Amino acid sequence: MEARDPMGDTDPHIHVERGVLRASAAVREVLASSFGLVGDAPTVVTTGCGRQVPFAMTSGRPESVTCLACREHGHREHERFADEVERLSRMPGITIDRDDAAEAARRHRDLAKRFAA
Ligand SMILES: [Zn+2]
Repeated sequence: MEARDPMGDTDPHIHVERGVLRASAAVREVLASSFGLVGDAPTVVTTGCGRQVPFAMTSGRPESVTCLACREHGHREHERFADEVERLSRMPGITIDRDDAAEAARRHRDLAKRFAA
């Protein structure tokens, strides 16, 4: 399968999925156990830079992502999620374990840093 951008050129870049966090193993674990939200990976996804590309042309691994706009997107999203998971873990009635939340936040800050590198 090949990816085409709106100009009709073959797109050689590796992107991140817009919902970058869904692709993350750490989040899968937390969300699956808390909310049961994890679905199968789709074949075509919307990227952080707004394109539609085959899922195979995306990666959740910062070092593999060659699209600059997507790297920035990944950086922002992981930072945001790290803050969010810490906030959620402090809310009454939420069953995310604080140690798990701290670990997830740490992993996402690490990913954010790698996207910015
Ligand atoms: Zn992109």
